[in-house]
Amino acid sequence: SLTHTTGGSEPTLSTEVDDPSHPLYHHRRIVSDFDYGDILGEGSYSTVLIGKDKRTGKQYAVKRLDKAHIVKNNKVKYVMIERDALSRMNHPGIVKLYWTYKDNRSLYFVLDLARSGELYTYVRRLAPFDLDTTKFYAAEILLAIEHIHERGVIHRDIKPENILLDDNMHIKVTDFGSAKIIDENNQQEGEDTAGTRSFVGTAEYVSPELLRSDPVSKEADMWAFGCVIYQMLSCKSPFKAPTDYLIFQKIKNLEYVMPDEFPPAAKDIIQKLLTSDPEQRFGSQALGGIQAIKDHPFFDGVDWENIFNSTAPPLK
Ligand code: ATP
Repeated sequence: SLTHTTGGSEPTLSTEVDDPSHPLYHHRRIVSDFDYGDILGEGSYSTVLIGKDKRTGKQYAVKRLDKAHIVKNNKVKYVMIERDALSRMNHPGIVKLYWTYKDNRSLYFVLDLARSGELYTYVRRLAPFDLDTTKFYAAEILLAIEHIHERGVIHRDIKPENILLDDNMHIKVTDFGSAKIIDENNQQEGEDTAGTRSFVGTAEYVSPELLRSDPVSKEADMWAFGCVIYQMLSCKSPFKAPTDYLIFQKIKNLEYVMPDEFPPAAKDIIQKLLTSDPEQRFGSQALGGIQAIKDHPFFDGVDWENIFNSTAPPLK
């Protein structure tokens, strides 16, 4: 069966778009519209392959999700959220979802191909990045987060593994499987609305409000953004520890070391982003939103309008 419910309120496992006003409704595609090539990577429920559109020759990343596996592990809701969140996005710094289709076994998401892999790989090999490179990637990530928030979504899993790089070494944020859709006129919101009790995201980048079981809002992405800037400048994330429990203790106690060698403006922006109270955190509405972050001296010289058309600084 193509639809399968796993419980009373679970959405059905079909990513077909039946609503003609939906951006993905037109130009429906099918499995045989593409030639499939190399495997780009594998996730817990998915395989990502290169797919070439037979009509245009254009290459995409095709994410193939195993339906039986998803249903068995109660991940239907997350797959639907990933599709719904991604389909709202239209930004050069975010992986675009072009089409979805299915066959008997699998669901397919046709996505922008980010051929240069994960920012994580470069951080691990090459960090500390110099200030200009850090500034460049931080600025692109900030613009992507701004767009995500403007489209009524909280990503909730911003980290270097989820920041992919295209041929020109510009970013493409991916992995909306932990996202939360926050605007009213969306039905997928579900039981998460009242405040998130369940753990989502990745231990090292989790915000203190989530650990306090406070409601999680857009500011959680700003916390993770602060962790990523720190990591690019130092090569390790600020709240690293051998176990998740110890990581959570450090986050709750705001226990991290600011390296002496960080430039003063970097120290300042990181400290403002790694603020426990989300209302006092840099980027919160009360503190001027994302614009205030763009105006911070750390970003002096960034050409916000043209950064995605500029040449990426060399990673060496
Ligand atoms: P999990 O589902 O276990 O959390 P994941 O989110 O990494 O893992 P996928 O989204 O299926 O799972 O991605 C699997 C791998 O494929 C990724 O690690 C990444 O390296 C690669 N990949 C994913 N999307 C793309 C893309 N658009 N372009 C290029 N490579 C991609």
